[in-house]
Parts: sequence; structure tokens; C-alpha cells
Amino acid sequence: MTFSDLGLRAELLRAVEAQGYTTPTPIQLKAIPAVLKGGDLLASAQTGTGKTAGFTLPMLQRLADGPRPAKRQVRALVLTPTRELAAQVGESVADYGRHLTLRSHVIFGGVGQQPQVDAIRAGLDVLVATPGRLLDLHQQKHVDLSKVEILVLDEADRMLDMGFIHDIKKILRVLPEKRQNLLFSATFSNEIQALAGKLLDDPAMIEVARRNTTAELVDQAIYRVDREKKRDLLAHLITEHDWQQVLVFTRTKHGANRLAEQLSKQDIPSMAIHGNKSQSARTKALAAFKTGDLQVLVATDIAARGLDINELPHVVNFELPNVAEDYVHRIGRTGRAGSEGQAVSLVCVDEHGLLKGIERLIKRDLEKRIEPGFEPDPNAKPEPIENGRGKRSGGGGRNGGQGQRRQGQAAGQRSGGDEARAPRRRRGGRSGSRQA
Ligand code: AMP
Repeated sequence: MTFSDLGLRAELLRAVEAQGYTTPTPIQLKAIPAVLKGGDLLASAQTGTGKTAGFTLPMLQRLADGPRPAKRQVRALVLTPTRELAAQVGESVADYGRHLTLRSHVIFGGVGQQPQVDAIRAGLDVLVATPGRLLDLHQQKHVDLSKVEILVLDEADRMLDMGFIHDIKKILRVLPEKRQNLLFSATFSNEIQALAGKLLDDPAMIEVARRNTTAELVDQAIYRVDREKKRDLLAHLITEHDWQQVLVFTRTKHGANRLAEQLSKQDIPSMAIHGNKSQSARTKALAAFKTGDLQVLVATDIAARGLDINELPHVVNFELPNVAEDYVHRIGRTGRAGSEGQAVSLVCVDEHGLLKGIERLIKRDLEKRIEPGFEPDPNAKPEPIENGRGKRSGGGGRNGGQGQRRQGQAAGQRSGGDEARAPRRRRGGRSGSRQA
């Protein structure tokens, strides 16, 4: 099966060819015909499956057939949880639509609104937006959403995790009743099902296998180590093995900052990205990391979500995530596009429960290693896990049953708090740091 068999027009096929894609991915095989038909869609797919092209290509085709938008009007609205994901989807729209004459733009918080207002003024075929900034601009009457023909909610589960449900509901209220709705989500919690039930009309359902659940392309290992020795062990592993491009996950923004500073002091060039960083700082860090100028990028889960960094050789869990499924998301960063990757987790005595939850979810035991010189103290006592608000919660280490998404979400909201709270904290301001 090729892209042309799916019924895409020549302009789109040329753009796909220019990207170097020869065969549609499983989600594209199913989503493209379903979206072209004009019906609603509920798709279970995460980053790395080719989902963006799966909705963008047929969306562009449908838009290319219709009349141009009037002033300030938007014909297709794509909502994403983070600025990075919005930027990436916007790039895909521009890439795939390069031979069409459609107008598209990306808007998100944390940057000046005037260029966004200027871009919307003439009307847009596609607007990719994070919910907060979109609502701001709508309240100021800079954008007219009453003629939206297609609505896409990308990574809907993450939008709910981040507290965007009220913003989404407000947006839904100003959309026209008759429209095509596409909902993408990596997981199907009760909340997502409730949203899908309200939003979607007799949707086509698509489910594609999660990448890396079996993680055949990722070499995974656990290093047992004392809490206080993690940083030295990480510096040691990076230097000893000459790891050149390392994505490191921490649980909190403060932890990310601290670790990036400390590694830099040890002559390992490192930067942190998370919701408190300005957009330009994040873009700069990501660009330097992609080109190889920056050796280590330290990120929180939410900041890293949706980043398309191809063929990343090393992912390190400096701390295990509170939600077992985030482990799968994290290590999904390695071994992409058929290349081998290595995922290393530094696990101290506090995290044994979290580790059990992860092993249960991925249905395998992970190899445990001890690095000479970093042997853990056999008598170390577990401490409650820091929850990102300067407090320590007793739940994480003992729970162990984090494989359940609903349970995990609750833990994520509580324990991953400094990121998860970002949308709520911003209520007072108009723009600023709206999206994590
Ligand atoms: P996504 O899941 O949309 O984030 O896409 C993940 C990566 O797969 C991106 O780097 C895309 O450029 C790439 N990609 C998407 N579709 C294909 C395809 N049919 N063949 C090869 N690569 C693809």
C-alpha cells in the first residue's frame, strides 16, 4: 500500500515524497481514508507512530477543496498541550502543505501576541494552538472560531493531565455545531472517554500498537545507586562511555535546573527545559541538542512530551517517573526509525515500588546493574519521594501499582505537581507562561 493508494492528491504526494516517506505507517493507513471521508475519528496513538501526518495530510486535502477563510476566521483548528508540540505540528502542516496555497499559523503563550494577531487577521486555513493563548486571543476578538470545519485534539490525554479541560470546554462552546472532530490520545482514561462521548459523533476508531512496549530496539538497564550518588554516577557514565547526546529525565523543574547546572560545572555541557523556561531558551536548547552542540538535555516529562528528536542514542531516567506509562514514553525517545537506543534508569531505595510498577506494565524484568565505586548502601532506608512542591509525599515508593493509568494520573497530578500545575497558576495573567 502506498500513499497514492490512499487517495491523496498529487500536491500532497509530492510533499510526502520530499519528506522521504515511502510507505504509510499503520496509523496513516487507517486514519487517512477515515478523515478523507469526513467523519469523526478517535485514535489511540502516541508520538512516533506517524500520527501527525495521519491527520494533517487528509485535513489539508479536505481544506484544499473548500473556499478560503474570511477575515479572522479559522477553518481547521489543531489544539496541542505544549508549545513544542504546537511548533512541531505547525512545521508538519507547512511541510506537507507546501504545494498547496493554504495559510497556516501556530500560536502559543510565552511569546508576544502581536505577530500572532497579525497572522490571524487575514484568516487561516489551519491554526495550530495551545488552549490558553487561543482563548486569550478569542476573548480579545482577534480570532473568529465560528466557522471551524475541522477540530483536532492532539495528545488529548496530556491536555487533560495538564488541567486544560476547562479551556477546552470553553473553546468547544464557540465552535459551530457541525464540524469534523479528530481526537488523538495515547491512553483512554475515563476522562478521555467522557470527552470523546461528548465530542464525537459515531467516530471511526483506530488503535495502533504502542511503540516500545516490548522495547525490542531499546537496551534497558537499571543502575542501583544511593540517592545522593546519582549525580556523580550519571557524570561518570557519560564520561566513561563517552555518551554524546543524552536526554535526561527528572521529576521536577527544580531538579532539572539543579542537575543541568551541576553537570555543566563538571564540564558536561547541559541545559534544562521545562515549563518555566522562556520559549526562546527552550528553542535554543533544543536546537543545540539536535545539532550535537549540547551534550545533555535535562527535561521534565511534560516539557519532553512530543519532542521529535530522532534516533536519540541515550535516555537516562535520573528519577523514575511517578506514572509507569511515562517510562514507556521516555524510553520511546531512543531507538527510533530502526536505530538502536539505550535507556538507563538510576534507581535508589525510594523508587523500588515505582520500578515494580514499571516492570509490571512492560511485562518484563529489567536488568539490574551496580557500577563499581557506586555500590548502594544495603542498609539505606527509603524516604518518601519529593513531589515537586518542596514537600515529600509518602505514596510513590510504597504504591508500586502505578501501572494503572487512573491511579498513575492522580499520582502524576499530585507528585509531578510543579509541571502539572502550570496551567492553573497562570489564571491571573493574559499570556506569559501559559503552556508548560
Ligand atoms: P509523529 O508520530 O507524527 O510524531 O511522527 C514521528 C516521526 O515519524 C516524524 O519524524 C515523522 O517525520 C516520521 N514519519 C511520519 N510518517 C512517516 C512515514 N510514513 N515513513 C517514515 N517516517 C514517517
